[in-house]
Amino acid sequence: MRALTFAPGKKGTLEVQEVPGPYPGTGELLVQGLALGICGTDRELAAAVYGWPPPGKDRMVMGHESLGRVLEAPAGSAFSPGDLVAGVVRRPDPVPCGACLRGEFDMCRNGRYTERGIKELDGYGSERWTVEAAHVARLDPSLESVGMLTEPMSVVAKAWEQIDRIGTRAWFEPHMLLVTGAGPIGLLAAFLGRQRGLELHVLDRAPEGGLKSRMVSDLGGTYHSGTSLVDFHQHKPDVIIECTGAGRLVIEAMTMTAAAGTLCLCGLAPGGREHRVDPGMINREIVLENDVVFGSVNANLRHFRAAATFLAEADRGWLERMITRRVPLDRALEALEPGDDIKVVIDLTT
Ligand SMILES: [Zn+2]
Repeated sequence: MRALTFAPGKKGTLEVQEVPGPYPGTGELLVQGLALGICGTDRELAAAVYGWPPPGKDRMVMGHESLGRVLEAPAGSAFSPGDLVAGVVRRPDPVPCGACLRGEFDMCRNGRYTERGIKELDGYGSERWTVEAAHVARLDPSLESVGMLTEPMSVVAKAWEQIDRIGTRAWFEPHMLLVTGAGPIGLLAAFLGRQRGLELHVLDRAPEGGLKSRMVSDLGGTYHSGTSLVDFHQHKPDVIIECTGAGRLVIEAMTMTAAAGTLCLCGLAPGGREHRVDPGMINREIVLENDVVFGSVNANLRHFRAAATFLAEADRGWLERMITRRVPLDRALEALEPGDDIKVVIDLTT
């Protein structure tokens, strides 16, 4: 079968090649790969910024934003042939740490977790793949065109869960949400904010009137084109979800929330740029307002299940517009090229 493989740590090694298997082990599903979403992580893996091959191997299959259809399911599992599924990315560390022991491997404490398509495990970018029945979520059959958004939605589901848990420290009825960055994570975070009835503002560098701006408007939110929050100071969001990782926006967001506000940092960007900041002023703002600033990454099985529910509740047309490019597996390398896309998807069936 064909698979999109690469040699972690070596640039220019990405290719579609014939690989043997896969052969499902005990308790595993055999799945037909339907589609694979591509994100910045995949581009960084292809550029050898990081990446760890399976022990004793040079190459591995890429891909962690999966969508497939079950071909074979073990007897007694909750799955049947024909089910639409998305695989969980991370696996618990072998020690395991206290978090992994409790199924909260997204919060692993020792860093020895593994991840499909990223760290020591083959990914989901192949015509067929296997997955343990305990690490996969079933999707509504109507999600065939957009189900590869389950993984990004799971990241957002976790972020909102953490925001809700932080909110339980005191009275918490948020009114206004600001999302910075209108990529897939930002747009899905905005969708969940609107689902909760929040007044939505989204800031992104893309111009007004473009697709991102229209998608925010269609959620009932207000779109702001720009790269800074300086003009946003008349607003005081109760919750900010920062999805760009841009140092300047991160620093600005720290002092932007309403009293007892929450800033969730979801974005990643290369470091190295210097910004003039006043740490004492930032500290005063956070202390005097009881603010919380926290980071969120990855997702465990319950977040994937929640994501499946959230996707089923979303407007299909709105989700489909997020997928701005679909390329066949044979031209998969084109999907890794940078562009203006919101989400690029590789079709594993053509
Ligand atoms: Zn762990």
